[in-house]
Amino acid sequence: MNTSEFIWMNGEMVPWQNATVHVMTHALHYGSSVFEGIRSYATHRGPAILRLGTHVRRLMDSAKMYRMNVPFTAEQLSVGCRQVVRDNHLSGAYIRPLIYRGYGSIGVTPPPDSPVDVAIIAFEFGAYLGSTAIEQGIDACISSWHRTNSGSIPVQSKAGGHYTNAFLIGSEARLNGYGEGIAVNPQGLVAEAAASNLFMVRDGVIYTPPIAAGILGGITRDCVVNLAKDLGYQVVSDQIPRESLYVADELFLTGTAAEITPVRSLDRISIAEGKPGPITRAIQSAFFGLFDGSTPDRHHWLDSVEN
Ligand code: PMP
Repeated sequence: MNTSEFIWMNGEMVPWQNATVHVMTHALHYGSSVFEGIRSYATHRGPAILRLGTHVRRLMDSAKMYRMNVPFTAEQLSVGCRQVVRDNHLSGAYIRPLIYRGYGSIGVTPPPDSPVDVAIIAFEFGAYLGSTAIEQGIDACISSWHRTNSGSIPVQSKAGGHYTNAFLIGSEARLNGYGEGIAVNPQGLVAEAAASNLFMVRDGVIYTPPIAAGILGGITRDCVVNLAKDLGYQVVSDQIPRESLYVADELFLTGTAAEITPVRSLDRISIAEGKPGPITRAIQSAFFGLFDGSTPDRHHWLDSVEN
C-alpha cells in the first residue's frame, strides 16, 4: 500500500510506523468506528480537497448516529485533514479520517465515557477500480448479497462495521470475474455498489436510487446530480427495479474512490454498445474539469490545502 510520512493521531503528527493501536481496541472487535474517504487533487490553483466541509459533516453525523462523543470539533478535523496533505507533501491523495472506540472496555456497549480516538491518514492515490476502468468501463454483476437497511443499522452512517456487507458484495463479484458488485435492497430494488452509488441513463434522462432505497448519500453522487443539472440534464431520484438496469442506455458508478466509473456490462449483458455513453462522458469531463479549471467551481467545492 501507499504510505506517507506522518499520521494525525488525536491531534499530534506521528510517524507512519508509530501510528498503532492495542489489540484490545474496541473497534477491532466490533467494527465500532466511523470514517470518511476524501480526495485531494492537484488543481490549477494548487492542491485542493474536494468538498472537505461536507465530508467532515458526514463524519460527525456518522459518529452521532452511533452515540460517539468525538473529542474534536469539525473545524479541528478539517484543519487536520489539510495538515496531513500539506505535511506529507501530497497533492493527489486519499484522506481517511477515522473515529474509533479505543482501548478501555471489552463490552459491546461500552460506558459513555469510554475512549473515542481519532486518526487522519493521507497517502498518494490513483484510480480505485484500475486505470482502465474510468476510460473503458467495468463489467459488473448483481450481488447475491442484499444491501442492509435502516431497520437494522443506520445506513447513512459510514461506520466500519457496515463494511462487512461491502466486503461480501465486492469480493463475491471479484471472485466471479467481475469488476464490482451492485446490490439490491431487501425489497429487491436497486441500492448501490459495494462502496459507490449508481446512476442509470435511459432516453436522455438520468436516474439514481433515492436515499430511502438504503444507500449511503454519496457526496460524489451529489456532485454528479448538480453537474448534470448544470449541463441541462433532467435528474430523477426514484426507485429502480433490477431489470431496468439491463436495458439502460448508460450505467455508471460514483464515489470518492471510484470517481465516475462507467459500467459496460451487467451480469454479462452489454449495456447499449458496451462502452461508456455520451452522458457518462459529459459528466466525467465536467467532474474532472473541476481540477484543471475547465469546469468552473461554481458550487465552491474545492478547499485549498493551504487554507
Ligand atoms: N456507498 C457506499 C457504501 C460507500 O462506501 C461510498 C464511499 N464513501 C459511496 C456510496 C460513495 O460515497 P462518496 O461519493 O461520498 O464517496
